[in-house]
Formats: sequence, C-alpha cells, structure tokens
Amino acid sequence: MATAPKIDSATDPMATFRGEARAWLAANFPPELKGKENPMSAVDGPDEAGDAERRWKAAMGDKGWGVPTWPSQYGGGGLSRGEARVLQEEMARAGAWNPIGGMGVMMFGPTLLEYGSEAQKAEHIPAIARGEVRWCQGYSEPNAGSDLANIQTSAIDAGDHYIVNGQKTWTSGGQWADKCFALVRTDKSHKHAGISFLLIDMDAPGVETKPIRLISGQSPFCETFFTEVKVPKANLVGNEGQGWEIGTRLLQHERSSLSSGGSASRLFAGTPLGRMALDYRGADDAGRLSDADLRTRIVRHEMDVRAFALTLRRAALESKSNAGPSATSSIMKNVGARITQDRAELAIEVMGMQGLGWEGEGFSEDELAQTRTWLWGKAVSIYGGSTEIQNNVIAKRILGMAEAK
Ligand SMILES: Cc1cc2nc3c(=O)[nH]c(=O)nc-3n(C[C@H](O)[C@H](O)[C@H](O)COP(=O)(O)OP(=O)(O)OC[C@H]3O[C@@H](n4cnc5c(N)ncnc54)[C@H](O)[C@@H]3O)c2cc1C
Repeated sequence: MATAPKIDSATDPMATFRGEARAWLAANFPPELKGKENPMSAVDGPDEAGDAERRWKAAMGDKGWGVPTWPSQYGGGGLSRGEARVLQEEMARAGAWNPIGGMGVMMFGPTLLEYGSEAQKAEHIPAIARGEVRWCQGYSEPNAGSDLANIQTSAIDAGDHYIVNGQKTWTSGGQWADKCFALVRTDKSHKHAGISFLLIDMDAPGVETKPIRLISGQSPFCETFFTEVKVPKANLVGNEGQGWEIGTRLLQHERSSLSSGGSASRLFAGTPLGRMALDYRGADDAGRLSDADLRTRIVRHEMDVRAFALTLRRAALESKSNAGPSATSSIMKNVGARITQDRAELAIEVMGMQGLGWEGEGFSEDELAQTRTWLWGKAVSIYGGSTEIQNNVIAKRILGMAEAK
C-alpha cells in the first residue's frame, strides 16, 4: 500500500487537525471496507449493511463526523468548513466513505437547524447525525409536481393535533422510512400562504405506502396515502402558513447536495472515460484514441467535469458565512445534471453494443451497471425540481427577469 504523504506543519495551516483526522481514520475505518460502495446512504433501498459497515457507522455517529459542520450540541462534528474539507481529503486518501446519509442529512437536517424549535432540534438532529432514522420527502402529489404550491393534502386543526388526509407520490424510499417531512395545506384560501411544514410518523395509523414498480422491476419510490392521520401540533415546523418558505429552503439544500455530493460524485468515480474508450475502441499509431471526433468530445467532457468540480469548490470557499445554499444551487443542479447525463451518454457510445445489455453472460457486471446508470441518469434532470423549473428560478431570482404576462 502507498504510504501517506507526510504532514508538514510549516506549509499546511491545518496540519494539527489533519494529523488528528488521519490518526482517527487509521484507528476506526475498517480496512476491509476500503474502496467499497457505500451501502448505507441509500434513501431508495433497504439497509444491506454488514458487521464492518455497522461498526464504521457507529464510530462516525459517535464522532459526529458524518455531519461534520453541524453543531456538536446536537451530535454533529462541530468542525469549521476548512476542517471539514481536510476531513474529506483524508477520508478520500484512506479510501473511506461517509456512512451517514440520506434525506435527513442532505436536506431535512439543515432545514430543521434553521427553522426548528429547540425541542424539535433536540429530538431529531442527533438521530440524523447518528444515521438512526430514515426520513422521506412528502412534497409531490398527483397534481402538484412542478407546480408544487398546488398541493391538496390537508391538515385540519383538531385542538392539540392535526388530522391529515391526502396523497403524495414519488416518495423516494417511503416504504423504508421512519418519518416524513411533508408539505400540507392548513388553509385552502391562500395558495402559498396556506401551506405548512409537518413531520409525520410513517408508522402512524392511517399512513399507507404503495411502492411504484418500475419497468426494471425495482420500486425505489411509493405512492403515500394519509387517511385521518393524527399528527401532534408539536410536529409543525415554524408557524402555520410558513411551509412554502421552509419547503423551498429545503429544496435549496436538496439541490446543493445533489450537485456537490449526489449524482455528480459518480462523475469522479470509476474508470475514467478516456481509459474506457481506449479499451473499447483502441489507439492510433500515436497511442491516442483512434476516433478523433470521440476523442474531442471526451476531452471537452473531462474539461467540463473539472471546471464544475473547481466551481463547486470555489463556491464553498467563497461562502464564508454559514448562510448555506441560495438560488445559485439551481445553476449547480442544472450543470451537474447535464454533465452527469453527458457522461452516461458518452460511456454508452464508447461501449457500442456492449452498452445495450440488460442481463446475460455476454455482458460484464461493469457493462450492465453502465447501462443502468445511463437509464437512471434520465431522472437527474427531473428530481429535486426539473431542469425547466431551475431555469425559471435562475431567470426570476438570479437574473431578475420579469414573468411573462
Ligand atoms: C427519481 C425521482 C425521485 C423523486 N423523489 C421524490 C420524493 O422523494 N419526494 C417527492 O415529493 N417528489 C419526488 N420526486 C418527484 C419530483 O420532484 C417531480 O417529478 C418533479 O418535481 C416534476 O414534477 P412532475 O413529475 O409532476 O412533472 P410535471 O410538473 O408534470 O412536469 C412535466 C414536464 O413539464 C415541465 N414543466 C412543468 N411546469 C413548467 C413550467 N412552469 N415551465 C417550464 N416547464 C414546465 C417540466 O419541466 C417537465 O418536463 C421524484 C422524482 C424522481 C424522478
């Protein structure tokens, strides 16, 4: 195994923390997990973790480093952004991955830290930081996707609780989730100001999930039905009618997370496209990829990937305050989605007929995975708000363009 580069305290201002992180990882990250896919962060599948994964998750949960910048009083790591970056670098160096993930980490936790009451934060944040509770997102409805403010699921005031009735759809991981953060209608007379943000236990009487079966045979998301569900008023986040503000803030966290850590992380994983193209298409006399047109397109793509990675990094460094994401997350989401889809298209093109397999001995595991990645990539420009909706946000909130009359 390659030895780690020495830590030089004369040139590295983060040397002390880097040393601490490196030593802790050496003592706690099970070496047998090095380079393995993280089976635990999935929101869209059952928990398939083994013993070593569970030990690793418990260690990271105790340390709070699964959510490194969250406040330590709620079980987070309490690290500065700089320290979190060093931790990420040291984890990458050690081949370690973050076992604490899912919607609680990506979007609900940061939103609750901003808008939740002290009691709500104390109840929910430590459990998310330890990866103990799975959250799902109850936003979309059959008639409320892009026009999210059209939600009709109602929450009627019944004294110390609400009675919730309605239907959500495309609830990722709903069948495995413990809890749901949902947008509900507490007032029918105001479209946006009638929406509230409510936390619902998925095992409460009256909650039912029906997995939606895809053509692939998988069921990563559900229809979710609420019938006369009793939800304590203590589960209302913010005030009644503040749900649109809180819900859209959560979407900014979701988009920011999708572009920096989600689907985009696949861009930097696996065999580089150029290497793959050489293997499938062969080299010319100068050792370059023989197809000059494909070569140019792969180089352009690699430049896009690098520019995107640097832009994400610069944006993180420039946001000095802990203000979190803004409407610019819509730009990052769209760019990340386009590049992710471009990569999948190029990979399939490079593989030719080998990229068109679904099952069977004529295809390697890697080839079958590429085909599935290509198909799954179609969803990237839809979930978290479609590309067209991000373009609308960019036009209105960033470019200040007026809506067409
Ligand atoms: C893999 C996946 C996981 C998902 N997980 C969840 C989840 O966990 N929880 C949840 O609540 N939702 C989830 N969704 C739903 C997702 O948020 C919606 O699919 C998305 O917001 C689009 O809504 P829609 O499907 O109703 O499409 P529609 O709103 O019907 O849009 C159809 C098309 O019209 C375009 N369009 C609509 N309005 C406009 C407009 N004003 N201007 C320009 N173009 C427009 C859209 O861009 C789209 O191309 C998930 C979706 C996918 C694909």
